[in-house]
Amino acid sequence: MKRRLLETAADLIFPRRCPFCREVTGGGICDECAVWAEKIRRADPAVSLSAEHDAIDFAAAVYWYDEPVRSAILRMKDAEDRQTARTLSDCLRKVLLTRSEFRCAEAVVPVPASAQEFKSRGYTVPMWLSEFTVRDTGIPVCSDTLLKVRETKRQASLSGQERRKNLRKAFSVPESRRENLPNAVVLIDDVFTTGSTLNECARALKCAGVEYCCALTLAVTK
Ligand SMILES: [Zn+2]
Repeated sequence: MKRRLLETAADLIFPRRCPFCREVTGGGICDECAVWAEKIRRADPAVSLSAEHDAIDFAAAVYWYDEPVRSAILRMKDAEDRQTARTLSDCLRKVLLTRSEFRCAEAVVPVPASAQEFKSRGYTVPMWLSEFTVRDTGIPVCSDTLLKVRETKRQASLSGQERRKNLRKAFSVPESRRENLPNAVVLIDDVFTTGSTLNECARALKCAGVEYCCALTLAVTK
């Protein structure tokens, strides 16, 4: 409640803008950008999974990772643009609430950053997206259920095998959280690139006792 009041106050001082062109809209995407964004919205949000994604039961992404979504995602990360995360989470919430594969979700888990990464920013984009996505749904966010316990190299330049090696045992569910784990969770991240990170997160959750693990992202690379 207090957070909502603070947000309403902040909206008066910093009016909500279109997440893409930054025009003041009071919330939501402006009409012009809506046309542009619609072109990269995926008709079917389901992401096709391969044998490499053996721990993920289902994955969905709202957009293709292309403009204007790409710039909006980068701005969330680089310019600490929480307002954009709030606006874009509306489309994540729609998918979460309408796809039958997510119906049994008991909790949402943001893909974690390492303690060092988190410390340097104090937030992560997946945390913001998770927080706003579950708004008014009654689904809790479990930010401390899954931790990144080891630093990893940037995934982009690595081959499939190197990526798996790089991520091995990078994520873990702390002992203190292993009791009363939800049976079904949805992992939230900004982009589904190769899916290796999401799969390692799902694997760690399943090793700890989670039975059903889905992934939901704003975008997926082609
Ligand atoms: Zn716009």
